[in-house]
Amino acid sequence: MESSAPSCWSCGASQDGGMTCAQCNALQPPRSDLNPFETLGFPVSVQLDEAELSAAHLRLTRSLHPDFFGNADPIEQAHSLAWSSRVNDAHRVLKNVMSRAGQVLAVHGRSIDTTEGGWRPSQAMLMEVFEINEGLEEIQRGSAGSTSQSVDEWDSTVQGWKDELMAGMVSHGESWETADSVEQQALLDALQEALARHAYVDNLRGRIERVKQTLAH
Ligand SMILES: [Zn+2]
Repeated sequence: MESSAPSCWSCGASQDGGMTCAQCNALQPPRSDLNPFETLGFPVSVQLDEAELSAAHLRLTRSLHPDFFGNADPIEQAHSLAWSSRVNDAHRVLKNVMSRAGQVLAVHGRSIDTTEGGWRPSQAMLMEVFEINEGLEEIQRGSAGSTSQSVDEWDSTVQGWKDELMAGMVSHGESWETADSVEQQALLDALQEALARHAYVDNLRGRIERVKQTLAH
């Protein structure tokens, strides 16, 4: 950044990375390394006020509306379109707590890949998933006892895991605020684990839903 401080495309004044030039007020292009939190003006955290997030999104969307740039320089029109798509993308990934958690990891250079090759589930989690999959297969084969009740039981077990994960996100956000850099690394580890677990839990919920539909027919 210090080697080539960007300058305003319109007046040439050097820029500090803000949305508009402090000198002439012209809209600047979004920085390529701008993360979604910066784009909407929030600190990098799992915990943020979702109503404030929506308000910031709305405010920015309005200020970038094409109507305001109808008579603008084509360069500025192009910047406004680039900003609009950044702002919409940022809102999309931050409005949901789980994808927001993924963005926190990404900002800290952590992998958010929960598929093969990335994070590995614990033995305990694999056992739980295995047990539920077995149970669901039994139900589908009709070899389990009172079938519909059992699938509802699995459903509430998995829903309980989901609730735990959501509660964990809140306490993660709270701990983060007072954590030192070593504690933050441990919290990022925990966040990676929680996201991976969430992916497993969502898969299971989808599977349970499909079994329920089969049983309803
Ligand atoms: Zn300027």
